Amino acid sequence: MKIEAAMVNEAKQPLEIKELNLDDIKDNEVLIKISASGVCHTDAVGRDGGTTPLPLVLGHEGSGIVEKTGADVNSVQVGDHVVLSFSYCGKCRNCRAGHPGMCEHFNELNFGGKNFDGTYRLHTTSNADVNVFFGQSSFATYAVADEHSVVKVDPEVDLNLLGPLGCGIQTGAGTVLNYLKPAPDDALAIFGAGGVGLAAVMGAKVAGVRQIIVIDRNDNRLAIAKEVGATDVINTDDVPLEKLQDEFPEGVKYAIDTTGSSLLIKTALGLLQPAGECVVVGIGGKLELDLMSDLLLESKKLSGVVEGDSQPQKFIPQLVQYYKEGKFPFDKLVRFYDFKDINQAFADSKSGAIIKPIVLVNGHE
Ligand code: ZN
Repeated sequence: MKIEAAMVNEAKQPLEIKELNLDDIKDNEVLIKISASGVCHTDAVGRDGGTTPLPLVLGHEGSGIVEKTGADVNSVQVGDHVVLSFSYCGKCRNCRAGHPGMCEHFNELNFGGKNFDGTYRLHTTSNADVNVFFGQSSFATYAVADEHSVVKVDPEVDLNLLGPLGCGIQTGAGTVLNYLKPAPDDALAIFGAGGVGLAAVMGAKVAGVRQIIVIDRNDNRLAIAKEVGATDVINTDDVPLEKLQDEFPEGVKYAIDTTGSSLLIKTALGLLQPAGECVVVGIGGKLELDLMSDLLLESKKLSGVVEGDSQPQKFIPQLVQYYKEGKFPFDKLVRFYDFKDINQAFADSKSGAIIKPIVLVNGHE
């Protein structure tokens, strides 16, 4: 079928909305009419050629309505409201053990650009193959996804709002609720108050954590952090990183770094209590450690966790329920954009003006 999709032809160039051909679904797949799709830092890395071969249709926080299901699909029906999450095989050891974010095929399925079976489902009007992002490519009027990526959600909640639960919000909240599982007395420090960091704050609030420290250098973001549950906010322009331990002499049991900054990760490790754990969830580069003083001597851990160690089919409906109950106000992070303004949404995400832009795709046939 013919769709309109925001395509990247050349690295670091703006997205262009073009007509493309989308293949019909296979037995394991679902066709979704996309309502909206969140913009995430990972999309910007993909646009700049950093994750997936080009040409490429980005978008990995889609929400929409099921239009058609394949013969083997059981979990959703035509008309269901759904969120699209990351792709996983469902068969490897980690998937079977309930950790699909740790799927042994995670990278190829989410960043390799091809379908589960190695084919391409998107093509230009001149029939050249186009790569898929996160198994969905939801910056498009329609998307096809494997059943594993499709999560049925409560139809009473505004569908346009829900896409970011599929990646960024799930990553932050899941790192706390699924992976770290802190007790109320376990102090937690969160580095970076973007969408992922603020979702971690909300997750920590749900978990009843009594001390939630947020470190950033943007006062607007820190104000929102306070609004959604942070107990202590630190602007690094006011308190230099080397003074952070003086502010919190008892240290923290857990830290989450959402920035990928080696300086902040080292600072986080320094702030940990003995046997504490720092989780990195942001895209970053190289880090130099002193294994003795930074880790071993105090039995500290440094871990990487993808997608909040979530089982999307269970965790996303749970987050929707918390939202309905007023415990998870992630709508405070959101601004909506028309589909045609998608490059503005990317720019506002990068500048930090808007924490979580969502582009509205609906209304197209
Ligand atoms: Zn797997």
